[in-house]
Amino acid sequence: MRENITLKCTECGEENYISTKNKSKHPTRVEYKKFCPRENKMTVHREKK
Ligand SMILES: [Zn+2]
Repeated sequence: MRENITLKCTECGEENYISTKNKSKHPTRVEYKKFCPRENKMTVHREKK
C-alpha cells in the first residue's frame, strides 16, 4: 500500500516535494537528500507528519 507524503526541508521548512512511500517498507518517517530551490542547495528533506 502506498501513501502520499510531503517532503519538507529540514533547514528552512519549505515543503518542496510531494512523493509516495510504501508504508510497510518504511513505517517510520523517511528522509531524502534533495535540492531546495529556496536555499539553492542540497538539503535533507523529511516526511511531514
Ligand atoms: Zn530549504
